[in-house]
Amino acid sequence: MDYNYLADLLFPDVKLTIADLEEKYPNRNLPEGAKVTRFSPSPTGYVHIGAMYGVLTDERLAHQSGGVFYLRIEDTDAKREIENGVSIICDTFAELGIEFDEGASSQGDRGIYGPYRQRERVEIYHAVAKEFVKLGRAYPCFCTEEELAEMRARQEEQKANFGYYGEWAKYRECPIETVEQLLKEGKPYVLRFRSMGDLSRRVKQDDLIRGTLDFPQNDIDHVMLKSDGVPTYHFAHVVDDHFMRTTHVIRGEEWLATLPLHVEMFEAIGWKRPKYGHTAQVMKLDGDSKRKLSKRKDPEADMRFYSQQGYYVPAIKEYLMTLINSNFEEWRIANPNEPFENFKFNIKKAGVSGALFDLQKLDDISKNVISKLSADIVYDSTVAWAERYDEQLHTLLTRDRDYAVSILSIGRGGAKPRKDFAKWSDVRGYLDFFFDELFAPQYDFPGNVANEDAVAVLEKYKNVYDPADEQTVWFGKIKAIAEELGFAPETKLYKKNPEQYKGHVGDISMVLRVAVTGRQNSPDMQMVMSILGKERTLARIDAALEAINK
Ligand code: GLU
Repeated sequence: MDYNYLADLLFPDVKLTIADLEEKYPNRNLPEGAKVTRFSPSPTGYVHIGAMYGVLTDERLAHQSGGVFYLRIEDTDAKREIENGVSIICDTFAELGIEFDEGASSQGDRGIYGPYRQRERVEIYHAVAKEFVKLGRAYPCFCTEEELAEMRARQEEQKANFGYYGEWAKYRECPIETVEQLLKEGKPYVLRFRSMGDLSRRVKQDDLIRGTLDFPQNDIDHVMLKSDGVPTYHFAHVVDDHFMRTTHVIRGEEWLATLPLHVEMFEAIGWKRPKYGHTAQVMKLDGDSKRKLSKRKDPEADMRFYSQQGYYVPAIKEYLMTLINSNFEEWRIANPNEPFENFKFNIKKAGVSGALFDLQKLDDISKNVISKLSADIVYDSTVAWAERYDEQLHTLLTRDRDYAVSILSIGRGGAKPRKDFAKWSDVRGYLDFFFDELFAPQYDFPGNVANEDAVAVLEKYKNVYDPADEQTVWFGKIKAIAEELGFAPETKLYKKNPEQYKGHVGDISMVLRVAVTGRQNSPDMQMVMSILGKERTLARIDAALEAINK
């Protein structure tokens, strides 16, 4: 068969050649060892946490080596695409503080290796497809859906492997005259790869995460161009990663199955393959079993969840690093105060089996990270979050910045800072009682304090409270009230002789806490009272008295 003739028949208008493209997209001028990675999502309207795992890997590999990390939009499947899909992706990453060096962005494309959206690259795919045809490695297939379904049914009947290959491949050896005739009739066709593989032979391919893989060769004549001329993922991957000069392809393990096809395509056209790393899926414990995090069932699968909840971006990244690199936690313990970017990320330490995502662990890490921030940063971040997600909180926080910052300063800065919140949406529940508008007291006094004792505590305290007292004097007054009412002034004393007392000083403090904050958990009471001010503290005590006496 004259493949050049076939190529011209199929692509009469394609003048662009491989040589032109090689010249247009030269090798990148980067230092030795610099890695070029890409994130290449389909614009389906959201970014899955599993993709984020890959993105962080890509970003670290590129930036740790002085390389380039770019964004390519894989929009060849119009069915999966949603309006604004690209802006959602770009906004999500902007919020996560992930910056691409080049590629697609909401403002258009940046970089000389574009266009970075596959639908705008059709001319390039067709030029390469034409070359595959010339090499005898691609051919048109005119099979209808019905014919393919029928082929499948026969394969099932004969217990043959499924797929379009070998003698099942109806148009693989179709005479040129027939092709010409069918084209003339305007019959739709797809362009298929002509595989030379054989299932009984093996391919070896190194994987950055999994070591050397050894699998049967591909023997399927996969579709390269669909009937509308748009490429499949497989063909676009080969073309794009070649001409965008990607050195390292990090992608999900779902692509392992077609890796032999990708290897064969690269070989067919004589291009060097990128290095591959196939990441494990992100899993979740559901009862006793592990399952994939699913967009439908798990809100935390969608990266927008983290913005909505107000997670602090460095904490998210910190957590993802623990998932991605098994030795990150060890490094973190040894280097508690360094930015995570100083950790030497090693792709070989990425897990092979499903990474277990655990929101509780993210929260713990987050609380830790946030506990080290200054009150000003916590304030600014909460305000920025509340501006979008909690209007009332935003109004209250911005009404008096100093007041809010003093609340957020409680227990911050020491050797053992308080770990009250994992995300900005936790802030409201932590400080709501400081705002009269939000104050909704639950007068749950300790069970061993009789109502008349609670009243006595509050009445007595009103007479002695002095905001100027230093800590021991302040607490001394509470101890004195405890003693007067038959409660032990020290917990120790109570423990020794519980029968001698009605309870201990902790119960008395609790009465005050519940009266002033309206709950049993709050930060340091003396601080709370001093921030509220004497007048409001006493007014709250009065309100509690009223509630008890009702
Ligand atoms: N568009 C593909 C996906 O969303 C990208 C896979 C790859 O990174 O090559 O799964």
